[in-house]
Amino acid sequence: MSQYRAIRGMADILPEETPLWQMLEQTARDVLMAHGYREIRTPIVESTDLFARSIGEVTDIVEKEMYTFLDRNNESLSLRPEGTASTVRAMVQNGLLNASQRVWYLGPMFRYERPQKGRQRQFHQIGVEAFGIPSPDQDAELLLLSRQWWRRLGIDDVLTLELNSIGSSDARHNYKAALVAYLQQHLDAIDDDSRRRLTTNPLRILDSKDAGTQTVLEGAPSISDFLDDQSKAHRDRLAELLSRASLSFVWNDRLVRGLDYYNDTVFEWTTDQLGAQSTVCGGGRYDGLVQQFGGKATPAAGFAAGLERLILLLQVLELQADELTDLYVVSADETTLSHAMAETDRIRADYPGLSVTQHLGGGSFKSQFKRADKSGAKWALIFGDDEVASGLVTVKPMRSDGEQQTLTASELNKFLSRLEQASEESED
Ligand code: ATP
Ligand code: MG
Repeated sequence: MSQYRAIRGMADILPEETPLWQMLEQTARDVLMAHGYREIRTPIVESTDLFARSIGEVTDIVEKEMYTFLDRNNESLSLRPEGTASTVRAMVQNGLLNASQRVWYLGPMFRYERPQKGRQRQFHQIGVEAFGIPSPDQDAELLLLSRQWWRRLGIDDVLTLELNSIGSSDARHNYKAALVAYLQQHLDAIDDDSRRRLTTNPLRILDSKDAGTQTVLEGAPSISDFLDDQSKAHRDRLAELLSRASLSFVWNDRLVRGLDYYNDTVFEWTTDQLGAQSTVCGGGRYDGLVQQFGGKATPAAGFAAGLERLILLLQVLELQADELTDLYVVSADETTLSHAMAETDRIRADYPGLSVTQHLGGGSFKSQFKRADKSGAKWALIFGDDEVASGLVTVKPMRSDGEQQTLTASELNKFLSRLEQASEESED
């Protein structure tokens, strides 16, 4: 074994897994483009203060999960733990918020958490943010968009949308007081972490996994009783838009989310297929964040999906990406190989929709076919001595039940056209 190992909680994504990742990412790109969202790419590193101020000083992320370091100029920098803060910073800095904007990002995020299935220290998110629209139709669009993505992935059946409204900051302020007053009567029955949060971040207690605390919470006041008329109207209109589009959801009045910047709508897409790490996507509305970053007040809403958890879900459901290779080229010896190489080069130029792997380094037909099989190729293209001498080539099915055939040059071209067409159709 090599003396070097990847850092704990940070995984290599190996070539055999990347087709699934590429499929996951490509479906997202397609859906986002179809909804008029454009990609933004921001640096992995930002000033620590950016995250501390936006995510909240007394959240888990800022208190104990950030990768923070001093650079050579003694500035405190952090690896991004999420993408919204950087996106908002970039939008404000580049003066992009004078019109409404729809953007998305994809990339690694870093949080110093306890690694376990579906929870890593470097993980990946696709995030979507929409700026400039205060009304609930924006929230609805984000949710319908995410459902389109789940549909294309084939996982919509195993996902549930949980929805809540956490109202205005006044509503949360009043609710916090009521929640704290209630919990103070049950101090003995709640866990240590929650007791500590009573004074720092009481809303987070609703998230506690402790069974005793959960029992106590059953009798706690509900935030829904603290919403003002505007928040109620927003919530009800969103529910109406979703119902009209047949997107079913469940209200969860304990759903608060881990970041401080949300208001009104918050949501999570959850599944019962992944054990404890059941949330694959979460988001909500954050109307105050842009102004907090020095921009002019701009309403906003968005979500982030955790790609590792979506990959796990695709694997649990045994959903696979399409085969990577269409053709595997084998040849008899050095002489036929030189012909095969030139011919393969021509095929790649003439049929760019096909993925062609040529066997390199020689070896017996038997060992070459073993490789062909392992490559997942649909067909082997065989350049044997006799065939090459008479200008022919043999195609042999590796997966389907087609027939082995020996083809002339023009027959080969017809065969390759059909294969390219079939391969392009299967991608749609
Ligand atoms: P959790 O409650 O599971 O810790 P979170 O509320 O901290 O999630 P968000 O900050 O909302 O998560 O991030 C959005 C999504 O990113 C999550 O729903 C999840 O799918 C994914 N995610 C968050 N943290 C991790 C992690 N450490 N490893 C893998 N995926 C993660
Ligand atoms: Mg978390």
